[in-house]
Amino acid sequence: MSIKRKNTRLVLIAGATLSLLLIANAAVSIYLLRQNTINERTGQLSNLTLILSEHASQTMFSANTMLNSMVDAIDQAKIETTDQYNEFASQKSQFEILTEKTNSNPIMDVATFVAIDGRVLNFSRQYPPPEINLSNRDYFTWLSTHDDDNTFYSLPVQNKGNEKWVFYLARRVVNTRNELLGFVLVGVSVEVFTELYKRIGENLGEGAGLSLYRDDRTLLIRWPYVDDMIGKINSNVPLMSILSQKSESHKIYFTDEPSFSQNTVSTARMISIQKLDRYPLLIAASMTSELYLSGWYESSLGILYATLVTILFVVISMALLIKAYLHNQQIQYLAEHDKLTALPNRLLLEDRLKQALALAKRNNKKFALIYLDIDHFKKINDTLGHDAGDALLRETAIRMVSCIRETDTVSRVGGDEFVILLYDIEKNESAVHIAQKILLEINKDVAFSGQILKTSASIGISVYPEHGHEVALLEKHADIAMYIAKKNGRNQVRLFTAV
Ligand code: GH3
Ligand code: MG
Repeated sequence: MSIKRKNTRLVLIAGATLSLLLIANAAVSIYLLRQNTINERTGQLSNLTLILSEHASQTMFSANTMLNSMVDAIDQAKIETTDQYNEFASQKSQFEILTEKTNSNPIMDVATFVAIDGRVLNFSRQYPPPEINLSNRDYFTWLSTHDDDNTFYSLPVQNKGNEKWVFYLARRVVNTRNELLGFVLVGVSVEVFTELYKRIGENLGEGAGLSLYRDDRTLLIRWPYVDDMIGKINSNVPLMSILSQKSESHKIYFTDEPSFSQNTVSTARMISIQKLDRYPLLIAASMTSELYLSGWYESSLGILYATLVTILFVVISMALLIKAYLHNQQIQYLAEHDKLTALPNRLLLEDRLKQALALAKRNNKKFALIYLDIDHFKKINDTLGHDAGDALLRETAIRMVSCIRETDTVSRVGGDEFVILLYDIEKNESAVHIAQKILLEINKDVAFSGQILKTSASIGISVYPEHGHEVALLEKHADIAMYIAKKNGRNQVRLFTAV
């Protein structure tokens, strides 16, 4: 392979390697960035569910405190019968207390005293209360049939008046003998919760979902708000499987199962679940992969774009480098070669002569310098034309090259003058032998444009170190030998002999 092709190939390999490195670098960066983005978003979602669960706990604490204060008021009044309870609970003073308590906390929608038969005795909305019976409500059914001191967390109910959703915390009211007297209720406004979830959710971006569930997976509150899902049980695979893993109360899960709100469409997303410590509730927050990877998409595009631009620069630089190199090579070639025969010219010959001399001196070798001038060349030009002369010179060049080794040099140094450098010859006769071979070749007919050209040459030889230790002297002696060949009738080879 020529040096030119080898160097061009090297530059191309370097460019390809650099481009591959850039691509590998971009791929690793994009991968790490993805991991980082997911980790960051995971942390963010975990913290969010933690905060929301704290918020829900505090709200439940307030609602329970209100319920307890209502139960305490009955305890302190030492009420023993349902009549006493109904009378006590129906007082206007109790209405004022209930109103004051619900007004002090916007998340408390209503506080109610309920009779043992389900009648509303008193509530914070108006006094006296209208005729309302709550005996068909889930908390009434449960608490009137279960001796359960704990707070019951009801299904959300849509207020018939303003259509707003409320879910209730309810407790039994009992006397000292643990006989049921009635019930107390506190309604928690779904709207106020949703408002908070909405603000947080909108801040997170499209694809975020925040929900409050009862621990039997009944949906109490959700943002984005979906009216017909409130109060329904979420039996979807992700929530079920998350809750069945009892190991940790709080973890991040990745799933692409269809979500509760979009039952048929599978959506890749991360879900964080946080069970409330003291209340039978849990918070679920989710983010679609599009949302949690949105920052990553943008950054990756940036990295890809920057990488492509850099690779483009590398390609352009490599192309320019190769072009400049080839141009340089071309200039150097033209400077060192003869146009007509493509043989090395005197400049390159001088260079090779210097190298040959240095090598021969160091290694104790011989080399020969052959001067060759075509005989009566002018005649060919004059009789057959310049083109015939040119053709003869080209053919002579080819024939001379065919007689020497690849390591030797044939050079055209003048109009019909050639110099041949034979490296590392055993003895003078070897050079004479090659010169004679060349002469025989030159004597052979050259066909040009339907004519036969016949020619001969005069050849002079000098040998290092015998005929000189310097290039100039060797040249001079070869020239003299050639001159003698000319003088002695041409078409012959002469080895220099010192007079
Ligand atoms: P001699 O036997 O003494 O060498 O006689 P000659 O006619 O060969 O004379 P000489 O070597 O002095 O002349 C060389 C001629 O070559 C002179 C010039 O007109 C001719 N010449 C030089 N360069 C070129 C070339 O590139 N092409 C052609 N066709 N002729 C050239
Ligand atoms: Mg000549």
